[in-house]
Order: sequence, then C-alpha cells, then structure tokens
Amino acid sequence: MARYIFITGGVVSSLGKGLASAALGALLQARGFSVRLRKLDPYLNVDPGTMSPFEHGEVFVTDDGAETDLDLGHYERFTGVAARNTDSISSGRVYSTVLEKERRGDYLGKTIQVIPHVTNEIKDFISIGDDEVDFMLCEIGGTVGDIEGLPFFEAIRQFSQDKPRGQCIFMHLTLLPYIKASGELKTKPTQHSVKELRSIGIAPDILVCRSEGPIPVKEREKLALFCNVRPESVIAAQDLSTIYDAPLAYHREGMDQAVLDAFQISPAPKPDLTKWEDVSDRIHNTDGTVKVAIVGKYTQLEDAYKSIAEALTHGGMANRVRVKIEWVDAELFENEDPAPHLEGFHAILVPGGFGERGTEGKIKAAEFARTRKVPYLGICLGMQMAVIEAARNVAGLATAGSEEFDHEAGKKRFEPVVYHLKEWVQGNHKVERKVGDDKGGTMRLGAYDAVLTAGSRVADAYGKTQIDERHRHRYEVDIKYREQLEKAGLNFSGMSPDGRLPEIVEWPDHPWFIGVQFHPELKSKPFAPHPLFEDFVRAAKDVSRLV
Ligand code: GLN
Repeated sequence: MARYIFITGGVVSSLGKGLASAALGALLQARGFSVRLRKLDPYLNVDPGTMSPFEHGEVFVTDDGAETDLDLGHYERFTGVAARNTDSISSGRVYSTVLEKERRGDYLGKTIQVIPHVTNEIKDFISIGDDEVDFMLCEIGGTVGDIEGLPFFEAIRQFSQDKPRGQCIFMHLTLLPYIKASGELKTKPTQHSVKELRSIGIAPDILVCRSEGPIPVKEREKLALFCNVRPESVIAAQDLSTIYDAPLAYHREGMDQAVLDAFQISPAPKPDLTKWEDVSDRIHNTDGTVKVAIVGKYTQLEDAYKSIAEALTHGGMANRVRVKIEWVDAELFENEDPAPHLEGFHAILVPGGFGERGTEGKIKAAEFARTRKVPYLGICLGMQMAVIEAARNVAGLATAGSEEFDHEAGKKRFEPVVYHLKEWVQGNHKVERKVGDDKGGTMRLGAYDAVLTAGSRVADAYGKTQIDERHRHRYEVDIKYREQLEKAGLNFSGMSPDGRLPEIVEWPDHPWFIGVQFHPELKSKPFAPHPLFEDFVRAAKDVSRLV
C-alpha cells in the first residue's frame, strides 16, 4: 500500500505548490521509488474543461480523455508518469457524484452531509490505485483557510487517522516575505498559516518556504520552534531561474531526505540525479537563441499555453539553444499586413483555441509562414487555420472556413473545410456526439492513434509511422477536400487508422511547415523532448544561423 504525502499551501496562492509536488515526485523516483501525483481542487466546476484559459490557464488533457488542471502537466513533465482521469478531482465532481448517489437512493434515506458523505467520497478518490505505487502525492488546491477547501482538509485529516501510523505525512508550502527596510525574512505569516492548519487538526511534518534568498539559521530555528517541525524539515525553496532546476535545488535543501526521515525510511536509498543534472546542463549551457512567435488569442496570460511554452523549452534543450518566446496577438493584424509583426522571428507557432475571434490573423500568420518559408507549427486550431489558408489561397476555395465560426455567428458564411464531426471511432468503439450536447462533453478528447506516411517530414521527425497523441477539439478537417488540397501541394501526412480523420498536414516544398490536429506539447518532457518540438526548434535554429 502506498505512503501518502499531502501537500497544502498557505499565506498566499501561486507559490508553486504544483511545481514543488512535481519536483518531489521526481526526487523520490531518483531514489528508486514509484510515484503518482494527484490534485484535489476545491472549486465548484466539475472539471476545468469549460473554464476560460484566462481564469484557469491551460486545460491539461490526459490519455484517458480527462480535462484537468495544468498542475497535472507539471506532474507529468517532471515524473514522466502519464496522468489519469482519477488524478484530478474538484468539489464540483465530488458533489455531483454524491448527489447522483443520493438521487439513486444509494444512501438509503440518510441525511446527506459534508461529513461523512462528501469527505468519504474524497477519501475514496484519494486511495484509487494505491496498491500500484510506493508514494501517492496529493496536492490540495488553494490555501488553508479557504471556505471551499475545508472538506478536503477534513478528508485528508481523517484519511491519515484511518491509516496506520506513519503512512501519511503533511507538507505545507508557505511564503517568507522579505522586508527590505529591516533586511529580514519574516516568519510570522508562516506561523499563522501553520496555526490555521493545526486548528483543523493537521500538523505539518515538513515546511517548504518560498523565499527570495537563503533562510538564515536564526529564522529556520524560529520556524521549527513555533511551527513544531524539525529544523532540518524546514526546506528553503528559493526563487530559481528555471523550474527545471527545482529537483536539484530541493534535493540540496534536503527535501527528499526530510520526507524519507518523516516516514522513518532508513537507510535511505541513494539518489541518482544524473537525469536532472543533464536537464540543468542543457538549459544553462546553450549556444545561441531562437525567437519563436506564438500567434494566439490568450496572449495576456502565459499559463494559457503553459505546455507549449515548456515543450518549446524542451525543444531548445535538445538543440542546445535558448528559445525566446514572444506572444503575438492575432487580432493585431486581422485587417492589415502581418509582416511588421512577424518579421524577425525564426519560427511561428499557432496554438489551439476556440471561437472565431483572432482567426483571420492566424490564417494570415500561416500564409506569411508558408510564403516566406518560415518554419511553422500549427497545433489543433493552428492546423485548421493552415488548412483554411491553403484552401483559400492555393486550392482556389475562396470562401473556405470552419463550421465553428458559422455555428458561433448563427449563419452560414463559409465553405466548411473544417466541420463538426458527429461520430468517429476510438480504438474499437464508435463515439457519437450531437451539436446540442453539453459543452463539457462534445469533444474528441484523449489519446488517439495516427498513421504517418513513410518518408514524410513528420514520419522522419518521429522516426516511426505509428503514433498516438492527445486530442481536444470539436471540429475536424473534412477529407472531402483532401484531393483538392493535395493537388495544391498540401500533404495529408498523418491520418486516423480508419483513414477518415486528417491528423497531420504538411507542405513538402517548405523548410518546415506542419499542422497537427492533436496536442503534442502535452507529452513533451525535459528529459524526453517531443520529437515535433525538437525538430521544429532545429528548423528555427537553421533559420537563425542564416541571418
Ligand atoms: N476550436 C477548434 C475545435 O474545436 C480547435 C480546438 C483546439 O485548438 N483545441 O476543433
């Protein structure tokens, strides 16, 4: 049975709890343990699928088709363990399960209450698959003291009581603010946060303290004394220049050792950190910089394209170059020449997105990349826009567009080269969808296989012709137009195994122009960069060496 590490946060939000959890997972792996990471989110949405990227950042999709919190992306990037549907739960999902059971009569007429019904549901969820790994790391979203979070804190408190002694530990992440005037790191907010935690029955075993610099001995001892933890269990999490230094930095601070000590695992297996040393070396020792434009709609919030930014960084690591990303708002040049906005970049990436706003700008970006021979990677909507561009400007379909825009506008204006598919095949199953289905449930979601044309650029990049990648979209490129588009020179180099769904398009007579219907960024890792990102950045590097 797994040992449990519950990770909570205090003082302020956005301290990097997800990252700390992910880095700890990586460190436990480095010591030879198997891990799984899980996120418990107190908000009332059933999942982040229908939340705006402005609200919540990117939606991370799992192989089994769950739309989850972006922290699951960190977990996967650091541990390589593919996240599952059961690794992300929200209050909304818990309550809807409880209410479903209540309607079915499962509770035999009992009064349904937060304790025990909601907390039991949370506890059941926490322990799913606990016989598969050595450590289960559960991060609680939000900060201690949030009203919404209380059932989760109560559930983990009970959970640790239900288990034999020594099977669960609590790690609390806080902030040590630095007061310039007095030149001091302040421990009081952490003391209060721990007090709050203890008032609901949870005593932390380990404190992880975010701070700008090192924690002086005096403050460390004070924290240990007032928060009732051992001094060596006060871990400094100093600001880092890259998140990929976190495993090494936390290890130096003794985080993994403190965890093993808290579980009384002795002797502690020696860690093998060569993987992370290589990652760190590749990120710090680069030769040159490539500039990539991400032409999108949600450019004010970088978290909206988190995995893409990380995958580009990984591509840079594979090529030993620094990737400098600039976010370009597609709406800026909907009615004008995009050249002044896009010249000077070594590559252009058009990411996924929903709705019509900004799409004419993305189509122009695809045209600019095609005609100026700039490396282009179109992801999901970015592929659809590249196809529309090819249809309009090369294949002679002047009114080509996506049904998505007509649906939104409520009138027919475009010839739908991208259309709404109502049924398709996943593995051996037929999936059916209606236009009017719930917003949360109408997409092609999760891992699907694709077959690549041997000799194509994508097949070369992957080094194989069978792949599976994660999807999240409602609309598809219509194969009805395949012949016409291929005649115009756009190659359909990746298809679903039944040949019905275009998965990849590319311009063979271009240095590097690929559109993919799926999200390759979700599977990229610092120690295993995704082949498409590796190849895309290599193409950008080639361009950068020419100028
Ligand atoms: N809006 C498009 C669709 O639903 C693209 C989605 C995406 O880019 N993830 O098909």
